[in-house]
Amino acid sequence: MVLVNIGFDFDGVIVDISNRNEIKSRWADTLYGVKIPAEKFSKSHVVGGGYLTIEQYAGLQNHVYNSREVGLDMSPVPGVLEFLPRLTAQGHVAKVITSREPAAAALAGEWLDAHGLDIDIVGIGQSASKAEAASKLGLSVFVDDEYHKLQNLIGVVAHRFLFTWPYNARVEAGYVAIRVSSWGELYYAVQALRGGR
Ligand SMILES: [Mg+2]
Repeated sequence: MVLVNIGFDFDGVIVDISNRNEIKSRWADTLYGVKIPAEKFSKSHVVGGGYLTIEQYAGLQNHVYNSREVGLDMSPVPGVLEFLPRLTAQGHVAKVITSREPAAAALAGEWLDAHGLDIDIVGIGQSASKAEAASKLGLSVFVDDEYHKLQNLIGVVAHRFLFTWPYNARVEAGYVAIRVSSWGELYYAVQALRGGR
């Protein structure tokens, strides 16, 4: 059996971030008493439009990304709790490489533990490319929900998968990545790579 080292992004691959603007909208109201519709939640609208000061916006971002209250309450992407353990049970080595800063990555590690996912996580920070970590770990598969993160892995990771969401559906994946739209699809794509089942 051919086993592969597989890397996963965290936000948008393991935890569902498709409702993150709703969470920000809710917390903007709770923390600052400001009502901003989720569909309008962008920094340019919120700060540029004068709804929150830059300091308030930073505080909100910090709460949404770094607080235990929000971080441990995130929903799993459907299928991850079934298919990720199936991959590791087959002997594939799985690692999480996230662009989160160390504190937020540690919180993600707690989330993984709380959901029974026995997988190591590396937080490389916002400004670093995932290429170095992927190369060090000898990954031959990587799954991300951001096109440019996969673009950085060309020549480093042989099989690059873009996890499809409405927010990235318009990107032309081209030669950069193969799209998968569910964990089931990803699971069978990995099986196909090793020529099994
Ligand atoms: Mg992501």
